[in-house]
This record gives sequence, C-alpha cells and structure tokens, in this order.
Amino acid sequence: MIDVKDFGLARAQGIQLVSTEWFFSGKTEMHSDNDRFECQNCNHPELGKSYEIKKGNGIILWVCSKCMLDLCKNAFRHWKEAEIVSEIERAEAIYTKDRRRKERRKVTAPLMEAFPDVFSQDFMFSRNDGYSAYDIFLFKTYAKLIGVPMDVTDFDISSRTDELRNSIERIPKPLFDEIREALPDEWQTKLERHFKEGRVESTCKFKSKP
Ligand SMILES: [Zn+2]
Repeated sequence: MIDVKDFGLARAQGIQLVSTEWFFSGKTEMHSDNDRFECQNCNHPELGKSYEIKKGNGIILWVCSKCMLDLCKNAFRHWKEAEIVSEIERAEAIYTKDRRRKERRKVTAPLMEAFPDVFSQDFMFSRNDGYSAYDIFLFKTYAKLIGVPMDVTDFDISSRTDELRNSIERIPKPLFDEIREALPDEWQTKLERHFKEGRVESTCKFKSKP
C-alpha cells in the first residue's frame, strides 16, 4: 500500500479525470523504495504503486491511488446520474440492445439501494488517512463494471482514525465479502464473529452526529 503519511503536504491538483474519457486499464505497477514514482497527473511524489489509465485517443497516464479513486468516484457519480432517469428511459434501457448499460444497471441499482453512503454525493471519507473500506469497494466495483481485473489484496484498509474504525464496524455482510482480504487480520476475525454471533464489540469512541 502507498504510504499516505505525506498526503497532508500541499501538491498540485492535476486535471479532473472525466470518467467518460479516462478508464483504468487494469494494469498496476509497484515501485521499490529506491525507485519511487511520481503521479503523472497530480505530481504526487514517492509512490509505491501506480495505476495505468487510458484515454480513447491512446494517451496513457500512470497515476496515484488518489487520482485513481477520484476517477472511480467520478464514474459512480456519472452512473448515478444516468440511473436517475425517467420511467420512459428505464423502459428503454430494459429493451435496449445496449448490453453494457443493462449489465451496469444490474450492478448499480441494488448497490445504490444497499449502500446509500457509497453513492452519496460527497463520499464521506477523505484520502488523508488511507483507504476506507468503501474506497476499496468502489474501486473493485468500478473495475468489475468496466471489465478489468482488480485485486483487493493489493490494498490495506486503514483503521487509523475512529471514523474509519467506525465505518469498518458498520460494514454490511455483502460488502465485507467483497473487501475482506484488504482488511487487517484482526478485523477479518472480529467481523466474521460479528456476522456469526451478532454485534461486533465496539473499539472506538466515535459517535455519529445527530
Ligand atoms: Zn495523482
């Protein structure tokens, strides 16, 4: 996992990666300690891992996880907007020969219902403390929807803050099944027990705001 210690440093923003133009190719690259990489979009330095994204005209960029996740979130916002359509459009989509759109609908509609947080406009978790379970889930779902491989074992979900721990404690079972290997071992065990026996023992003081 990329060390996110330095994420608080000021850095260039890069261009907004529009999800209808840019796609994750499925290729990733690891960079060793003495050969760290700089994000080709936002110039984030010292990357331990980078992701290849492609544009329709053949342009390729190797980007950081922050840019990669921004692209995923952008795609979900776009798909969410596309899902909020009139009944006529819904009917059209059902009968259309556009298989990709139908397949996407099959995945996004139940997801939106099951995980409203994931599809909320502002995506509550920031990058500053590492990956949240929802980040990894978004990335995995995005990769699945565009038909490229993505290995969750490449990632470590962070439990650095109370907020992140709280979000892990509240993971629904279907989401846990998708991202479990990216969770620290202790959380895998805890949550397994939780799903078998009932509530997971709370280890954090974070309270959701009224
Ligand atoms: Zn970047």
